[in-house]
Amino acid sequence: MIDFRSDTVTRPCKKMRTAMANAEVGDDVYGDDPTVNELESWAAKRHGFARAMFCSSGTQANLLALMAHCQRGDEYLCGQQAHNYKFEGGGAAILGSIQPQPIENEKDGTLCFEKLTAAIKPDDSHFARTTLLSIENTINGKVLPLEYMQNAREFTREHNLALHLDGARVYNAATALNVDITEICQHVDSMSVCLSKGLGAPIGSILLGSESLIKAAKRWRKVVGGGMRQAGIIAAAAKIALAENPVKLQQDHENAKYLATALNQFANISVNLDHVETNMVFATFSEDIDIVNLVEKLKDGNILLSAGNPMRLVTHLDIDKTAIDTFIQALHNELV
Ligand SMILES: *Cc1c(COP(=O)(O)O)cnc(C)c1O
Repeated sequence: MIDFRSDTVTRPCKKMRTAMANAEVGDDVYGDDPTVNELESWAAKRHGFARAMFCSSGTQANLLALMAHCQRGDEYLCGQQAHNYKFEGGGAAILGSIQPQPIENEKDGTLCFEKLTAAIKPDDSHFARTTLLSIENTINGKVLPLEYMQNAREFTREHNLALHLDGARVYNAATALNVDITEICQHVDSMSVCLSKGLGAPIGSILLGSESLIKAAKRWRKVVGGGMRQAGIIAAAAKIALAENPVKLQQDHENAKYLATALNQFANISVNLDHVETNMVFATFSEDIDIVNLVEKLKDGNILLSAGNPMRLVTHLDIDKTAIDTFIQALHNELV
């Protein structure tokens, strides 16, 4: 299968499977799993945070961060397109009694500070308490500039807000900017990172923050059923993903550009190449193409696509240039 639907579809490599098979484990709810402990202490140090916590998913890491930062009756500012507003089932509101205050994202994915300022509620019993700003980097494949990260830090200091980064794909951002990851995350109070996307782990995310924040988040993790026992089995693969695979993202980005350029050759497909900053390509098909039918046909040829228009195509460890060529040829057979 050549699967362009997401970078979540990668399978663990041999090295990961070996590490999983041989992982030293213990009961992580008791804090006894040496492989989880090693991953967490390594990750905290690597990213410049006091503590780290291994979580089952990015959705869980974001939820726990929001619940640790905010009390019942608080609100968080976020983008209208934010994953932790739009694509996480409303978890913060449902499970945390935290109200989201979404703000329309600007074209580049940023949130306008004037609009954010206007949305901050006064200290008055009519309103929820605005306590947190949550931003996302990358957002829909776009990278937030380093200067924006710094401005977000200054903005939150000025307004006495905490700052959370949904960094599901923050390593793609660091790769695109050609900076060390700490250049991005030095500006935030907490950050979630997905290890099971471009980094290639089968399962898991990491949440980074202060001692007290992670302590609170860990309590909530148990409450939502996220306390895992011999989690070292999956942490072993997660460590390899986090330590060894960031350098491989550059290839995914080059492959995305290669894919975008090839798609743009079709008269009935258009891609804005300037928007291909990381591993995502958004391709707009002309109206006369039956996307659902096209996706079905390509599936018969072992090529998996998401049936949207624009269609999001994602490159990852399991897609190389040959796979892209195979896809383009199959598309040619269908469309030309
Ligand atoms: C995928 C994703 C998440 C959630 O991660 P899961 O592991 O799928 O729960 C959160 N935020 C962003 C920006 C994501 O892309």
